[in-house]
Amino acid sequence: MITIKDKHNCSGCTACLNVCTHHAITMQPDTLGFMYPKVNLDICVDCGLCERVCAFNPNYDISTNFPNPQAFAARHKSESEIMRSRSGAAFIAITDEILKQNGVVYGVGYKEHFQVAHKRATTKEQRDEFRGSKYVQSDLTNIFLQVRDDLKCGKTTLFSGTPCQVAGLKAFLGKLNTDNLILLDIVCSGVPSPKFWSNHLDYLERKHQSPVSYVNFRDKEVFGWKALCETYKYGDSHEKKTSHYVFYQPLFFRPSCHVCPFTNLHRPGDITIADFWGWERADSTFNADDKGCSLVLCNTEKGLSLFNRVKKDLKVLPVPLEKVMQNRLKSPTEEPTQKQSFIQYYEKYGYEKALKKYGIIGWRRKILLYKKRILKYLCVSH
Ligand SMILES: Cc1cc2nc3c(=O)[nH]c(=O)nc-3n(C[C@H](O)[C@H](O)[C@H](O)COP(=O)(O)OP(=O)(O)OC[C@H]3O[C@@H](n4cnc5c(N)ncnc54)[C@H](O)[C@@H]3O)c2cc1C
Ligand code: SF4
Ligand code: SF4
Ligand code: SF4
Repeated sequence: MITIKDKHNCSGCTACLNVCTHHAITMQPDTLGFMYPKVNLDICVDCGLCERVCAFNPNYDISTNFPNPQAFAARHKSESEIMRSRSGAAFIAITDEILKQNGVVYGVGYKEHFQVAHKRATTKEQRDEFRGSKYVQSDLTNIFLQVRDDLKCGKTTLFSGTPCQVAGLKAFLGKLNTDNLILLDIVCSGVPSPKFWSNHLDYLERKHQSPVSYVNFRDKEVFGWKALCETYKYGDSHEKKTSHYVFYQPLFFRPSCHVCPFTNLHRPGDITIADFWGWERADSTFNADDKGCSLVLCNTEKGLSLFNRVKKDLKVLPVPLEKVMQNRLKSPTEEPTQKQSFIQYYEKYGYEKALKKYGIIGWRRKILLYKKRILKYLCVSH
């Protein structure tokens, strides 16, 4: 049976939970709010299925992949779609095609009070909630079972998520007929826990003395594609307020993200989407307005055939692989040296004090920014 001896070895994908027909596994949060499987020994019959299904290792299934992915720069032909998406709105173009076939799309939206969760969509209105990156680990409760039911009913189904979620779903489905399934993974640097996110919302609500009523993790409309800023609205106010980019801090990432086996070109999905950082190397005019450019990797015949059907909605440029190699296609995000001390401090003193102590908010951050500005000034003037 599955036993998590080292938290680095579990991404929380829920494949083991779902595969256990004896219902012996539950997902339990640790002190940081990350979910891990826990086996009820009174129910477990020690069949070993949960261990065999775990795909969080270098041997995950890529049996239908091309030897190398085919890479493309892509931008939606509609500027409004680009402005509402994280990068070039490749996700919208791809999923429009699935919905046109009366298919089902799985992606990440919100549950009550901005808790980040995987959801099922059969209309554009429902699917639109999945636009944009939510930098929090999503709740996958019941989702793998719903995907399985859709496939059993013969529905064309697209599941999108982090590579560990995609690899987990693929392993869980096993020998089921997956001809109608398209797997879409994102290039992924890591995820903070739902508990950090709740703590952050509480902190903002205390500070502004009003409930958060709108969230945008990276607001392109206000700050442009590359900016690291979140925007929020409070109560009934329509005014957007800024918070600098807290949720991209590796200090917050799940331990597994620092040893992630998916940070390479062996993608678990049929299609991979990402921000195309360094798009200028492919063609300096392609994203001239800098509103956002997607990188699309077609990893299997199924992925390429779908992408060929959606090209009509996109501006597309084939790109040699060596021009697309961002860090998260080469290696996992490094584990910060202060991570253990940050965790201990967080467990003892709570979220706000830990953020202040580690210079993520408060006067320590202001000094850090001031030092950076002085250094930049000195570099420019010499
Ligand atoms: C946690 C996280 C880390 C990322 N790290 C990188 C990176 O290092 N480099 C890079 O190039 N791109 C990264 N991305 C991907 C990138 O931000 C865009 O998702 C991608 O460029 C697609 O953009 P788009 O305009 O086509 O569509 P968008 O509309 O922006 O894409 C939305 C897609 O992202 C999925 N999604 C949103 N939030 C989550 C979540 N919490 N968990 C799982 N799936 C989610 C949706 O289901 C949907 O499939 C990351 C995304 C997330 C969520
Ligand atoms: S990675 Fe997934 S399958 Fe493996 S132990 Fe963790 S939750 Fe279970
Ligand atoms: S060993 Fe079998 S019964 Fe026990 S938890 Fe794993 S899948 Fe369930
Ligand atoms: S970095 Fe790897 S382990 Fe972490 S969420 Fe992304 S795919 Fe999963």
